[in-house]
Parts: sequence; structure tokens; C-alpha cells
Amino acid sequence: MKAETTAIHASDLVKSNTGDVTTPIHLSTTYYRGEDGGYPGGHMYSRVSNPNRSALEKVISELEGGADTCAFSSGNTAGMAVFQALKPGSHIIAPDDMYWGFKKQLLTIFADTLSFDFVDLTEIAKVESYVKSNTVLIWAETPSNPLLKVSDIEALSNIAKQHKLIFVVDSTFASPILQNPIALGANIVMHSTTKYIGGHSDVLGGSLTFAAKNEFWEKVKNIQETGGAVPSPFDCFLLLRSIKTLAYRIKGHCENAEKLADYLNQHPKVEAVFYPGLPSHPQHEIVKKQMRGFGGMLSILTKGDAENARKVVNSVKIFTQATSLGGVESLIEHRASVEGPTTKTPQNLIRISVGLEHIDDLIADLEQALG
Ligand SMILES: *Cc1c(COP(=O)(O)O)cnc(C)c1O
Repeated sequence: MKAETTAIHASDLVKSNTGDVTTPIHLSTTYYRGEDGGYPGGHMYSRVSNPNRSALEKVISELEGGADTCAFSSGNTAGMAVFQALKPGSHIIAPDDMYWGFKKQLLTIFADTLSFDFVDLTEIAKVESYVKSNTVLIWAETPSNPLLKVSDIEALSNIAKQHKLIFVVDSTFASPILQNPIALGANIVMHSTTKYIGGHSDVLGGSLTFAAKNEFWEKVKNIQETGGAVPSPFDCFLLLRSIKTLAYRIKGHCENAEKLADYLNQHPKVEAVFYPGLPSHPQHEIVKKQMRGFGGMLSILTKGDAENARKVVNSVKIFTQATSLGGVESLIEHRASVEGPTTKTPQNLIRISVGLEHIDDLIADLEQALG
């Protein structure tokens, strides 16, 4: 089945005997046992599994082409489960522009137990030189935040295979519709389901999809079930509802973002546009090789200083000035002031999550905001 069909039908497994066409919300925390001591409904206790979470995990597995998925209460807890599953003393290779929440986890929570190098993964030739005897994992994030850098998933997976490393891809910006890292050699695909998969800025969640049910999968599964950072049945219901329109929302996000990127690219008050769909994007050839569309995220450098960039984000009327991404509503933010004084993000950078409003209205809004 194609993604559009999978997204709508892969959760049918929990159709109930009451005739519901959509998946009901199962709030029961515990499930009855049969005379033989077993669980005739297939579930024992809802931290371990429940029908809504099982349905969500099944749909994401099918969309990513993986063997199994573990759903978590946030993207951050999904990523943290991977770090928790590593032996103390392990070394990780991570991107220099890694999602700041994960970088913070490594630098604070795992500072005494793991070691890491933050490297530019677009410089493929150099990546191998960071592999040490205790390196166990390469973590990639593509496209990345906020410069939309794209790293070559297949090339990184070859390096990982050669050195027997676990290879994880944070594919949040792409969604399962635009990119499937497992088919390109990744062992694990991570999503913040808060973003495109949720798509309406009203539910927090994360997921890890595994290429194989191996020893590492077992460790992470145990952290999910025993650690218990799981999404509620209602969270899973919302995500399942959202996934049904994911393919069509992504088409709309891509279409609007491509038009907005073209518009901004020729705007006299814009110094640069970072968007994977522009031929000027430094990794445009890799983008075309590994993605089926260019996504809904873009960043621009405005001409002038930080104050001028702040003025632009303060002047919008349809865009909302807020962090996060992937929702139906367009968001805009002055990124450096979100990331704090130590950030390397340019002071005149504005990040845009292009929503599903009409493109003419979005362009008109930026036209007046840029002045
Ligand atoms: C938001 C985000 C995360 C973290 O997800 P939460 O759901 O906010 O915990 C991780 N990676 C990327 C790329 C993100 O955008």
C-alpha cells in the first residue's frame, strides 16, 4: 500500500466489536486475565501496552518501513531512551547543530556517563576520523535546525556499518512521507510526533522506529515499558487521527514552502534563504536523492541586524510568533533569541514553519512585515 492508504487503514486492527469505524479511546489501565492466566485481549497493563498505543506504533512502523515502533510521551523522552540504553563509557558522534534539547541532555544528564563529539555531518569525509574504539552510535538529524542542513543518510549508514555502530536519524523535519531512513540503511528513525505527525500543535509525543527487533530494540523497549514515559491513550488517539491526513498536509506544506522560498529568494530585504528545495541549497543533490519533497521548513537571513529581524517577526499578522513547527498554522521566530546568548545561529536569522493557509495571504503578510 502507498503511504496515503497506510496512514488511513493501518490502525484498523483495533476496530471494536461495537462497529466503530474509527478507533475508540481505550482508557482502561488494566485488562482481565483468562482462566489460563493469559490475557485474551492481548494487553495486561496500559503502561506496557494498550490498544491505542499499539495502533499508533503499528501505523508509524508501516509508514517508516520498520519492524517495530516504540511511542513515547515526547520527542525528548524518545531520544533519551536511546542514550539510556547505551553502556556507560560509550562515545557518540552527533551533529554540531543537533536539536538543542538533545544536546542539552548529553551535556547535562549524560555528562558523567557518555562522551560525545558534535561534528558537521555534511562533511562526510571527516566523519570517520571521529570514530574511536568506544564509539557505539552515530546520531544524525536531517534536514537540520535552523539552517536546514542535509546529511547523506546512505553515506553515513555505510560508515556506521563498517564500524558496527548504531545509526539513528532524527527525521522530524521530513516526516515519514518525505523520507524513510531505514530504507537507506539507518537502524532507528526518531520523530518528535509533536510536529508534522501531530500537525495541529495540540499534542506532545515522540517515536523510535527500529529496522530490526534486535538486542538494542529489546533494551529500548524495556526502557519504554519499565521507565514508563509513554503517551496516554488520548494522545495516541489524537496522533492516529492526525496521521490519516499526514500525506495531504505534507503536500500542502511543501507546495506553500516552495512558493514562499521562491518569493523570499528574490526579495530585496532578504540576504539568504535556506530551503532544501532551492537549487542554491548546498546539499540539493543529496536532497533529491533521499527525499520525496522539500518540506515545510525554511529559514531566512534578513538584511540588517538582530533588531531589524525582531521588527519583522513583530509585524506579522497571519503568522504567529512562536517556537515549534509542523502545525497547520504558520509560525515564525527569531531563532537566536530562543536559543540564548551562547547560540551560533546568526542574529538576523528568522525561522519559518510554513502552514496550510493560502499562499497568497502568507506572501502578503511577509510583504508588509518586511516593509
Ligand atoms: C521538537 C523536536 C524534538 C523534541 O521533541 P519534543 O516533542 O519537543 O520533545 C527533537 N528533534 C527535533 C528535530 C525537533 O524539532
